[in-house]
Amino acid sequence: MQTPALDPITILKTRFGYDAFRHRQDEIIQTVLEGGDAFVLMPTGGGKSLCYQIPALIFDGVTVVVSPLIALMKDQVDALRLNGIDAAYLNSSLDFDEQDEVIARLRRGELKLLYVAPEKLFANDGLFLDVLKEIGVSLFAIDEAHCVSQWGHDFRPEYFQLSRLKKEFPAVPVIALTATADHLTQEDVLEKLGLEDARVFVSSFNRANIHYFVTPKQNSYEYLVEYLSKHKGEMGILYTLSRQSAETLAERLNKDGFLAKPYHAGLNKGVKDKHQELFQKDEINIIVATIAFGMGINKSNVRFVVHMDLPKNLESYYQETGRAGRDGVKSDALLFYGSGDVMKLRRFAEVEGNPEQTRIMLRKLGQMADFCEVRTCRRKHLLRYFGEEAPDVCDSCDVCLTEYETVDGTIIAQKALSAVLRLEEQFGLSYVVDFLRGSKSEKIRDEHKRLKTYGAGADLSREEWLRSIKDLISMGYLKQTGDQYPVLALTAKSKAVLKGEEKVMLVKSTNTKDAETKEEAYEESLFEILKGMRMELARKEKIPAYVIFSDATLLELATYLPLSLDDMRRISGFGEVKLARYGEVFLKSIAEYCREHHLNSKISEKTSFRRSPARAQKELLNGTKTESLRMFKEGKSVAEIATLRNLTASTIENHLSFFLATGEVKLTDLVSEEKISRIQTVLAESGFAPLKFLKETLGDDYSYGEIRAVIDSSPKFPFK
Ligand code: ADP
Ligand code: ZN
Repeated sequence: MQTPALDPITILKTRFGYDAFRHRQDEIIQTVLEGGDAFVLMPTGGGKSLCYQIPALIFDGVTVVVSPLIALMKDQVDALRLNGIDAAYLNSSLDFDEQDEVIARLRRGELKLLYVAPEKLFANDGLFLDVLKEIGVSLFAIDEAHCVSQWGHDFRPEYFQLSRLKKEFPAVPVIALTATADHLTQEDVLEKLGLEDARVFVSSFNRANIHYFVTPKQNSYEYLVEYLSKHKGEMGILYTLSRQSAETLAERLNKDGFLAKPYHAGLNKGVKDKHQELFQKDEINIIVATIAFGMGINKSNVRFVVHMDLPKNLESYYQETGRAGRDGVKSDALLFYGSGDVMKLRRFAEVEGNPEQTRIMLRKLGQMADFCEVRTCRRKHLLRYFGEEAPDVCDSCDVCLTEYETVDGTIIAQKALSAVLRLEEQFGLSYVVDFLRGSKSEKIRDEHKRLKTYGAGADLSREEWLRSIKDLISMGYLKQTGDQYPVLALTAKSKAVLKGEEKVMLVKSTNTKDAETKEEAYEESLFEILKGMRMELARKEKIPAYVIFSDATLLELATYLPLSLDDMRRISGFGEVKLARYGEVFLKSIAEYCREHHLNSKISEKTSFRRSPARAQKELLNGTKTESLRMFKEGKSVAEIATLRNLTASTIENHLSFFLATGEVKLTDLVSEEKISRIQTVLAESGFAPLKFLKETLGDDYSYGEIRAVIDSSPKFPFK
């Protein structure tokens, strides 16, 4: 182990221009510096790169980064060079001379980071490996590590060879990083790479800066145009189901004055690359794509992702929407939902000759549709799907931003529940609704037409019934069982309603609040000027604009109006090298703008912590956490706080868990000693199982909040 020449936080500040670590980056870096292996599961945009880039700068010797995405290597290397870091890449896009040059620099010890394609690593009968052994590698970073596993959705044969690394370099630490890996894939990756002793770091999958909106699929083109007009000049991806609709939509948008290009597997490679490059370089701002687009894109300033059609499952939805807002700036995910799409996709879900697989695909499709239909917080719904608990309200999805008027729906609920009871819990949603409305259709069995409840709900429309029953399901008064043909059944909560002992409130009308009002004030025209300057620099230096500065950095400039180099040092993303390189030019423009508009610098309003719009939102959440903490310190119990604040106990537990790290709350305040030790045992036995699994194992006596608290307060927990 080397003694660090510099400490990680100093490097973060001076080289990269950031103030604080996030997502346990510091712990991950520490693990690697101590010579340990690490497995990092962090959402896109979370900041995985720094986890190996900072150790690379501290270690003697070179850090080798294995990445399957050739197109992205150059961007990564350009970005490092702009921060004054010696890096290079080695892949098939270089000719022989260029490759020799890189290897020569490697031998001369001039490189801190070397990006390589996996096939290059093992090329020439291991000759390259010998070079690496000779010069000494300090760290291997395996990016997109899920590609090692055949269980993952993106297995790459050339990644398979990476299992040799640990054998060839037993003493060199390995850090494996990915944004997508389910439990099975994770285990497989660890095994394939020989990382059984690795510390595992799993971050929250919440993308706080992405705002989720689902809108009925009616007049969707008009709606889209209105949206795009409000977001002129911003970068966005529109996803469609078919190549044909990608083409037509792009064409139509062009006619209406937007710069859009299609991207799908039916286009030839030259055209695809061209369109991708135009988008990458901000020369066009909209790409209309089928799912073929995305893997090779790591553009950080994508401000919106629109799904014109329904994605086939929530995994795809999460991944595709995740391409927005990698820079942490507020971004939108918009989805047009119509139940017609579910029908269409059902046909695609059939996997010929494999009923088991078909069943899974259909279930996933059903869950995707549920996400769109249910009127609970979209973010919570999405995170729960991935086994993560979340607060009930996120204040940044269409559901949370909509004011619902609730009415007494007890009679409606009673009618629905008794219909399900009379039909002996044997029929699906559609049948129950037709039955309630007294449909004359032959589909309704004659014996059912004689029941008293038949036609008892003729006063409501079919849509109103569908909505109400779905709400009853999400409130737990009804449930759906069975996969392929789900039927409605009663639950433990049904009885009280049927007996008239419990009142049920249902949602009536809606009124959407404006999400835009929450944004922080910044000088919009200055932001445009700065974007223009960035574009000019990018063209001159032949690199994508976002590699020079992220939108987040420009937004901070346009918000805090720094007027000296010292002011500028406090802007997120200005490391010392970029400050020296671009500081003056940007200062000049900002000063000019301020003079013209009689503005003063607002840099003093910038807290020592970097404030970005995304952060402002977090702070909002922290405000509510602090309130829970205050009450807790007054001696109130979790249950009491929950009642007083009209939140669930698990939300309060979440709030309080947040302060475990600061020491303001002790673990034993939240969980009994006995439970702590049981939870720790289960944790140890199950490895890094998802929360949902842990909860199932531990049973009803243990709340999500309790389990999470134990996990949160044992960061050094030996997972394996
Ligand atoms: P990932 O690989 O996880 O998708 P990146 O490593 O590309 O994410 O990081 C996303 C963006 O966040 C980059 O612009 C990066 O410089 C920035 N970033 C990373 N860590 C921090 C931090 N601690 N503070 C502020 N910005 C950060
Ligand atoms: Zn929400």
